[in-house]
Amino acid sequence: MNSLKIRFTENEMKNEKTPAEQLVFGTKFTDHMFVADYTEGTGWHDHRIVPYQALTLDPSASILHYGQTVFEGMKAYLSEDGIVRLFRPEQNMKRMNISADRLSMPQIEEELALEALKQLLEIDKEWIPKEQGTSLYIRPFMIATEAHLGVSASKTYTFIIIMSPVGSYYKEGIHPVKILVESEYVRAVAGGTGTAKTAGNYASSLKAQEVADREGYAQVLWLDGLERKYIEEVGSMNVFFKIDGEVVTPALNGSILDGITRKSIIELLKYWGVPITERKVSMEEIREAFLNGKLDEAFGTGTAAVISPIGELRWKGELFYVNNGETGELSQKLYETLTGIQRGVIEDPFGWVVELKK
Ligand SMILES: *Cc1c(COP(=O)(O)O)cnc(C)c1O
Repeated sequence: MNSLKIRFTENEMKNEKTPAEQLVFGTKFTDHMFVADYTEGTGWHDHRIVPYQALTLDPSASILHYGQTVFEGMKAYLSEDGIVRLFRPEQNMKRMNISADRLSMPQIEEELALEALKQLLEIDKEWIPKEQGTSLYIRPFMIATEAHLGVSASKTYTFIIIMSPVGSYYKEGIHPVKILVESEYVRAVAGGTGTAKTAGNYASSLKAQEVADREGYAQVLWLDGLERKYIEEVGSMNVFFKIDGEVVTPALNGSILDGITRKSIIELLKYWGVPITERKVSMEEIREAFLNGKLDEAFGTGTAAVISPIGELRWKGELFYVNNGETGELSQKLYETLTGIQRGVIEDPFGWVVELKK
């Protein structure tokens, strides 16, 4: 790691911190950010930690026109004893490269990016909230910066890591949400960009989310793009169902994002000996399970909420209730175990947690 020379420019004007209970997700940022530039032929250069600041971009920069950009989302947790923990951060860096490859963007140096993140965390450590349920949300991302209106891969890029203190996702405890099954719009199709964390997937999801908001639903459940039959994801989370004692989740099919929470839950369930199957799951199967009283539990999974139980699904005017609209036993147990491992209060038998030196 001696190849990594990070220039450091300290922020002289420290930002004011917001009390944990007033934090609104993704609105407040720490004093510093990590930046590195890429030039075709030269590779990555000018690794630096600088004051959090606005970017300067040429108005013709490719990111602004053709959307060549990828991102990641991860969290750092600070415990009472002052230890900072990351959850499977190498998985995020690895996935960023899978996303980058799909968008014809250069590979980041995974270990270097992780080392840079650790240094940034060290510098902005006092920004990590300590209160129960809080964390520091970390957003690594890469943008195409070449000033060129031609449709081709940019020759220059910038990689940035910004960090944002976030309050507790569940202020009044974990609670189930209502979900609208989306029958018109789709999130992604196999062969498209669904397996990449790239801006366009989220821009195109907003329309459906607006309708769900208007009708009082928290998120939409995305179906497959070909037949509108098979379940893919819920909002920007992966999705699991417990049907008649068996846990099922849609198999990675080329349009589903390979979530790290999803992967961890599958490993945890196997470790516990709970039957878990990755396969196609149709809406018709969910309907029948509900009608037969076998729809035990349903939940979304992702870094932000970890587990988001589903209490109700609406599909073509029909309503399916899950576990009487209450959080299921397995959902609760998964939530407590995963967040416990992440915070270092439950033993981590998998080696998932990376502790930073005090
Ligand atoms: C980020 C994301 C997820 C969840 O991934 P995690 O690694 O568990 O945070 C699921 N689906 C989509 C579309 C996502 O963007």
